[in-house]
Amino acid sequence: MTTELLFRDDAYAQRATAKIVGVHERGIELDRTVFYPLGGGQAGDTGALIRASGERIAIADTRKGDSLDSVLHIPAQGTQQLEPGEPVTLEIDWPRRYALMRLHTALHVMSCVVVAPVTGGNISPEKARLDFDIDMSLLDAARIERETNALIARDIDTETVWISDAELDARPELVKTMSVAPPRGTGRVRLVKIPGIDLQPCGGTHVRNIGEIGAIRVLKIRSEGRRNRRVEIALA
Ligand SMILES: [Zn+2]
Repeated sequence: MTTELLFRDDAYAQRATAKIVGVHERGIELDRTVFYPLGGGQAGDTGALIRASGERIAIADTRKGDSLDSVLHIPAQGTQQLEPGEPVTLEIDWPRRYALMRLHTALHVMSCVVVAPVTGGNISPEKARLDFDIDMSLLDAARIERETNALIARDIDTETVWISDAELDARPELVKTMSVAPPRGTGRVRLVKIPGIDLQPCGGTHVRNIGEIGAIRVLKIRSEGRRNRRVEIALA
């Protein structure tokens, strides 16, 4: 089942109305959603589905379903009383998601301060990390923090750009992340552009202006293997 992904065009949509189209063991499917499913290193959203009666069904996690653009909303408790066709109001945990958006966008900026192939990454509401294939001696926490914050202070608007699969194939340098292949299957790929700083395929949610990140601090740098030198950050 395909779900209309409202967060893809508007990462700031906190609420929406939708209709239940499927209820099964793995989760609840809706015709449209503001819930971002775990992917590209970014944690899945939490929040609630609100029934016409006012009853709130807590959503503990959001995951991708089997088909393209299908999203599974995972309830904290059972779903036995829900039926397809029922209208619901969706509400994400906005403070949590906004922290994810700020940290996610911060990683885009940091990936232009540390110039090396990205071999991994993760974004939780409290902290985020990127792994690089780089020599440890080239990672200096104070420098990464200073230069990332200097770029953030430029207050640049982020943009979304769509290109075809063929255009992406012709520009392999756009793909920095070796561990996460750009989402394909629809013939086009979504790029996130921070003019003058970064341009890369990404399906996640980002802030409108990098100034919203505020500032970051580097929590730690450590080696997780020869090709995984990990830089962990938090919002300052
Ligand atoms: Zn991104």
